[in-house]
Amino acid sequence: MFERIYIEEAKRRPGETVTIAGWVARTRDLAKIKFIVVRDKTGEIQVTVKDLGLYPGEGLGREDVIAVTGKAAQSKIANAGVEFFPDRIEVVNKSRQPLPVDIAETSQSELETRLNWRFLDFRAPQTRAIFAIQNRLLSTFRGWLTENGYTEIQPPCIISSASEGGADLFKLPYFEKDAFLAQSPQLYKQMCAISFEKVFTVTPIWRAEKFNTPTHLNEVRQMDIEQAFADDEAVMKVLEKILVHMLRDVKEHCPEELKTLKRDLVIPELPFRRVTYTEAIEMLQRAGEQIVWGDDFTKPQEKRMMELVGKEAFFLKDWPAAQKAFYSMPYSDNPEVVHAFDCIYGGIEISSGTQRIHVPELLRERISKKGLHPENFESYIEAFAYGAPPHAGWSIGLERLTMIVTGKDNIRECCMFPRDRERLTP
Ligand code: ATP
Ligand code: MG
Repeated sequence: MFERIYIEEAKRRPGETVTIAGWVARTRDLAKIKFIVVRDKTGEIQVTVKDLGLYPGEGLGREDVIAVTGKAAQSKIANAGVEFFPDRIEVVNKSRQPLPVDIAETSQSELETRLNWRFLDFRAPQTRAIFAIQNRLLSTFRGWLTENGYTEIQPPCIISSASEGGADLFKLPYFEKDAFLAQSPQLYKQMCAISFEKVFTVTPIWRAEKFNTPTHLNEVRQMDIEQAFADDEAVMKVLEKILVHMLRDVKEHCPEELKTLKRDLVIPELPFRRVTYTEAIEMLQRAGEQIVWGDDFTKPQEKRMMELVGKEAFFLKDWPAAQKAFYSMPYSDNPEVVHAFDCIYGGIEISSGTQRIHVPELLRERISKKGLHPENFESYIEAFAYGAPPHAGWSIGLERLTMIVTGKDNIRECCMFPRDRERLTP
């Protein structure tokens, strides 16, 4: 393999003979001169070919992979920046033409087509910007939690029973038994938190959602924490802090990507406002929405709430027990209400959390109350029989968060290889 340097570096080393390599983004042919714009992961450069004998005889098409040896030089044309003057152009691999998907800055291709040709779509500026931002969100999340004393855990993805209720579970044959794909790392992160105290994970989960929607996938990446000696308020504080930290970090380190996406990222103020579920219902009712105490909010109602609360990000807390999972800690003076919260950001739920029940007897009672069978959860319940501290945690959906940060309306844009009711490939 030839030695090459990135385009960004070649631009910093004008006058030196170096080799760059990448994809042909576009070409322009004039009678006596040819221009090739080459792209690699660090950017683009214009290769100016004056000696037409250097130009490949078979011509060049978009996305052909080429290696060019030559020298960078400051361009004489104002604003053009740096040009590259070749001594040698090697065609490394041709691309089939025409391309099945438009990957230009002004791509006109439908989302479905783009997803069918995802490997090519990854080369489009908008798509690259989305995943550069997602990458930043993930690395900042991991970095902040590691620095703040959280242990990264690896929960299993094949599990024996439901954690969030049975309806949207994927079942799979597992030797002589049935098993399920995890719909959340819930039970495992609790088992870890009661020993390691502060834990986090980034893990895929699967949900057989009833419908295809612009905000749901069937395979999701969740970013979770779980923390011992903490209640709901304690972990809400962690959530608002890390969210603002991640957003500031994107704003600081991804300005070009945000510009490509035409996204003006507003950083929410700390602390986030806390609105109780009951207050929220009353606000929506006053605004003429059809909703009664006990209902979950629809996605349009979540958006409406944002307008009514007037904040980019806020918490909805103290939910009816019926709307939240069996492990949610009830208020001692009002067991119909649980220590649970959602974080609404950009008008959509991006995270849910609760203080969990750490007392085996209470857990059995609440499981039965949900119509589930405590026998199916014995190994989980038993974990709390040997000195389990009170604990709480939350989960952020990575693709949901990316959607809001990048300003996209369809979550499929923010998942490299989305899985929905129809899509299993690529
Ligand atoms: P929703 O009410 O939006 O369907 P949920 O309350 O069922 O979500 P949780 O169990 O609270 O979801 O999961 C925690 C987070 O994981 C959610 O806040 C969301 O960001 C993300 N999430 C959950 N289910 C999905 C899904 N099907 N597609 C995309 N993200 C999801
Ligand atoms: Mg939720």
